[in-house]
Amino acid sequence: MAGAAREDGKPIDSKAALSLVAELRGAFASGTTRSYQWRESQLRGLLRMTDDHEQDIAAALRSDLGKPELESILYEVAMLRNSCKLALKELHHWMMPEKVKTSLTTFPSSAEIVSEPLGVVLIISAWNYPYLLSLDPVVGAIAAGNAVVLKPSEIAPATSALLAKLLGEYMDNSSIRVVEGAVAETTALLEQKWDKIFYTGNGKVGRIVMAAAAKHLTPVVLELGGKSPVVVDSGVNLQIACRRIIVGKWGCNNGQACISPDYIITTKDLAPKLVDVFKSELETFYGKNPLESKDLSRIVNSNHFTRLTKLLDEDKVSNKVVYGGERDPTKLQIAPTILLDVPRDSLIMNEEIFGPLLPILTVDKLEESYHIINSGSKPLAAYIFTNDKKVKEHFVKNVSAGGLVVNDTTIHLAVHTLPFGGVGESGMGAYHGKFSFDAFSHKKAVLYRSFMGDAAIRYPPYTDGKLRL
Ligand code: NAD
Repeated sequence: MAGAAREDGKPIDSKAALSLVAELRGAFASGTTRSYQWRESQLRGLLRMTDDHEQDIAAALRSDLGKPELESILYEVAMLRNSCKLALKELHHWMMPEKVKTSLTTFPSSAEIVSEPLGVVLIISAWNYPYLLSLDPVVGAIAAGNAVVLKPSEIAPATSALLAKLLGEYMDNSSIRVVEGAVAETTALLEQKWDKIFYTGNGKVGRIVMAAAAKHLTPVVLELGGKSPVVVDSGVNLQIACRRIIVGKWGCNNGQACISPDYIITTKDLAPKLVDVFKSELETFYGKNPLESKDLSRIVNSNHFTRLTKLLDEDKVSNKVVYGGERDPTKLQIAPTILLDVPRDSLIMNEEIFGPLLPILTVDKLEESYHIINSGSKPLAAYIFTNDKKVKEHFVKNVSAGGLVVNDTTIHLAVHTLPFGGVGESGMGAYHGKFSFDAFSHKKAVLYRSFMGDAAIRYPPYTDGKLRL
């Protein structure tokens, strides 16, 4: 059975979306998705599907993004596999009611928090990690016992088509469906009443999603982006720092990742040394002609290519390039590019870059970086490289971001005991590990009482004597 919502191949419209939700609501009401067995079998299906089609997934990612195979396997296939395995291992435990203490007022009593599925949920995904970002929330939604509609990104069409085909073959299609499409199809889906909407993408569309959800009082998780800064202090091992910044920037889809380092802040003294180490490490990794490197993704499409070249070619910015800057519009390639001392009012410093350009801002004293970071919107991630305990503490205490990493970039994503999500403009809600299960569960409060200890004070008449007790 096909996973795509419309087997006649036509794009979904409001009427078809309405009947899809009604169908899934019927399946959810039958209770099938609530059982441990169903959840386990669907998670196993996802795992099997990922194992069986590793090469097809890598091929789709190559077609959509020119993504190097190692990146596809490490950051999409293996991470999804780990999510499935963790959910399978912990599912019993996650589903168990959590006993909690009660208060004197209810004595004698016991209480627990019961996790129940929300119902029928919509997951709208983005193009940059199109396999992982589509299916990682699905893992949480299934583990929590929901019926799911997944809408992958049309900007990664090969992966979107593969997801529709594979989920059709490996999943229970009475409760899990894929709807492919772009704005019109997503709009038709958003008109419907869902029990949760989980959206990954930019904040402009995040607002559209939230406004549509508000009409039905549907809760949302918004996984958005932002300008994730990296502060580099003096006295650190610059080679390791640069390598970890490079791998978080260019080694993550050529900078097209939500937690990629967006810009660096360092002191005026350190900046020239930092640039030198970047130059030598980048050449070691990607060679003298990075446009020819097989280890860099391409820019996803010509719209994004044009957007990025506009940032680079702005008059006040174009003379600030200290490394890279080469581009090839025919192959949609832009080389790793470093810019030094770009003006704060430039375009590049006022929107999320989401590509291979890395500006370095310089300050007299490192403390000025907190002001720079905190004067902008709250980022999805913030990074600092330092050996100084006080500087670390100050950073953790004073910088607000979805997540922080000290002395590395991006790998907090792989720690399933940490929630992954934004704050302010970088989003709301979080997932990964148990947080994914919780994101798709209602935490039902249950208090158990017996017929003992029936305190008369609660009952009228409210006499003065009762007041003085
Ligand atoms: P995108 O263009 O793929 O859009 C995301 C989804 O929104 C798609 O499924 C698309 O069909 C839908 N969409 C687009 N326009 C719409 C509209 N007008 N109405 C309804 N739906 C619409 O992805 P993008 O937004 O370019 O993704 C990049 C952004 O996402 C960056 O800001 C990045 O930081 C952020 N991001 C965040 C995370 C995270 O986990 N927090 C992960 C990846 C990307």
